[in-house]
Amino acid sequence: MKRYLKICALLSALTVTVCGCDAQPTNSRPTSGVSSLIVINTVSEPSSSSSDVQANAPVRSDKIVSEDMTIAAAETLTVKSGETLYIRDGAEFTVDGTVNCERGGSIKIQSGGNLLLNGKLILDGSLELGGFLGIREKGEIYGAGLLTVLNSFEDINCEGTCLAKIKAPAPVEKDGVTYVGGVLIVNKKYSVPEDYGAELGLVIDDAYNALLQMREDTGYSLPLVSGYRSYELQTELFDYYCEIDDYDKVIMYSAQPGHSEHQTGLAMDIGELSEDYVNTEEGRWLTDNCCKYGFVIRFPKGCEHKTGYDYEPWHIRWLGKSTAKLVYDSGLTLEEFLGVEPM
Ligand SMILES: [Zn+2]
Repeated sequence: MKRYLKICALLSALTVTVCGCDAQPTNSRPTSGVSSLIVINTVSEPSSSSSDVQANAPVRSDKIVSEDMTIAAAETLTVKSGETLYIRDGAEFTVDGTVNCERGGSIKIQSGGNLLLNGKLILDGSLELGGFLGIREKGEIYGAGLLTVLNSFEDINCEGTCLAKIKAPAPVEKDGVTYVGGVLIVNKKYSVPEDYGAELGLVIDDAYNALLQMREDTGYSLPLVSGYRSYELQTELFDYYCEIDDYDKVIMYSAQPGHSEHQTGLAMDIGELSEDYVNTEEGRWLTDNCCKYGFVIRFPKGCEHKTGYDYEPWHIRWLGKSTAKLVYDSGLTLEEFLGVEPM
């Protein structure tokens, strides 16, 4: 048996606790004149095994957004422990105010559903992203909860801030190339095929255009020292380094053929190939600001054991603006962010 109680409530009533299955909709008001509605269903779940313990069955509350609606700037919607807020296919849920997802509560943005955040999402519970999440410039997500990306990082457009922990989808291999949530990963563990990237040119267009934009905005020269490198060129380089240096040192600064990000057209070496580059005004700017243009410093300082490479303040990796911002906000290396092994 499923009791199904449907309350069409005024938005202002949303902050009121939705009671258990026995609550009567005594406060439900006529909906005339209200354009943005949320449908709240409280569902008494049947017991998992038998129906004769109905009285003791746990009560789960669901809040369902099935059409466009907005939480206004002064309003707070709380998702309590045991509750789930569903954002359904085709619905656009705009948050100008606050959504407070408490520990034990969950938000599910279903395929085709949209959450547009201009305000705050306090995420101490869980958020499952199967649809689209737009974090606008003033939007922010924080809290001790977990944001799980089910499909692709392209499902997030982050112009604001996301400080919640993000769980990436599992790696997927396609034609010998590994992607995590649509992000191509190359490191000491993951490689690309020998013939990969030949058609890419110096770097991919988006990355090159972002470099031009950085130069234009800052006036810095930001010279491109190295972009695309073929498998053959990487072989020559690696072999050469091994002739002049100890192998153990070489593998900390040069990738084995097939394992270089430069073969993907997504990486660039900028400025000077020296750790001192970060002490120049230009190099410092690059470290602090490249994420705004879609890049991350791929091998950060003190992360040698996490990336497998020495610190390289000159090596930037294109991720696109939104994903670069998410990685930067996380304070993690790309491997940690994507949940993959570095070697
Ligand atoms: Zn490089």
